[in-house]
Amino acid sequence: MSIVPVDQGMITEVKKFATHDGPGIRTTVFLKGCPLRCRWCSNPETIAPHAQLYFLPKRCKSYGGCVDACPEKAVSMDTVAKVDRNKCTLCMKCIPECPNGAFRQIGEIISLPDMMREIEKDIPFYGKDGGVTLSGGEPLYQPGFTLEIFRKSKDLGITTVLDTSGCASPGIVREVMGFTDMVLLDIKHMDPELHRQGTGVDNRLILENAGLMASMTAVRISLPLIPGYNDSEKNLSETAKFALSLGVDHIDINPLHRLGTDKYTCLGLTSPYETIGALEKQDVLKARDIVKGHGLKVTVGRMM
Ligand code: SF4
Ligand code: SF4
Repeated sequence: MSIVPVDQGMITEVKKFATHDGPGIRTTVFLKGCPLRCRWCSNPETIAPHAQLYFLPKRCKSYGGCVDACPEKAVSMDTVAKVDRNKCTLCMKCIPECPNGAFRQIGEIISLPDMMREIEKDIPFYGKDGGVTLSGGEPLYQPGFTLEIFRKSKDLGITTVLDTSGCASPGIVREVMGFTDMVLLDIKHMDPELHRQGTGVDNRLILENAGLMASMTAVRISLPLIPGYNDSEKNLSETAKFALSLGVDHIDINPLHRLGTDKYTCLGLTSPYETIGALEKQDVLKARDIVKGHGLKVTVGRMM
């Protein structure tokens, strides 16, 4: 079954002049929707496939227009507004009522022509190596949109990078790979059960897709380094050996950061970071040395 092309998609952000999402200067598009639920996710606003209400308490000046505007009585006023997420139907009527911009919609539909116009605007900056990167969320969660962006980009001579968890049907992967110049593939854990515990799914499909991707295009592996989860010598060595078995010679170690903390608050979710230990500099260096010891090139953070 081939991917059905679609002429619009749901995105959260277009990042211009990105230098860590593939070679050269890139336009990175964050697509909404992800089949994984990584405990440490730093982009929680990209997980749900639909638009969401984002409330920034720091901007709230207790004006109260939002309380009156909400048809579901989901907003109450304390020192700042409070949204009852169980009552909220995502009608977004509160957004224009706040003069301070405390409410925002996360996730917007963009048409394929508008998306391509955004990407094409940056052609003068791409040079030989730069281009478009699709990230998320999981870009393969919207396969028709991803495929069309890549297909049209290739027609224009724009290089394409897929930043992916690898969690999609192999048929989708195969088709998208035909238009993909490079994959940045997250490998979160080599043990299927621990992978399931950390992300909600086991890793069998992801590892299978890793082989498929590596047989069709250039792959770099990204390892999110999560203390107490995947930073054991055993897991790091197994990840390195797996990369070598694919012919991949480069691993990017991405140490856990907590920059997503406020995002959880603004989405009405509980931040997971209190339950995850801290990562010290020596832990990162130790992980780097273990992977390097297998003969791989290693960068800490995605340095292209
Ligand atoms: S988006 Fe939710 S909180 Fe805002 S007005 Fe609609 S129901 Fe009320
Ligand atoms: S795969 Fe990425 S976007 Fe999806 S839950 Fe995991 S960290 Fe978040």
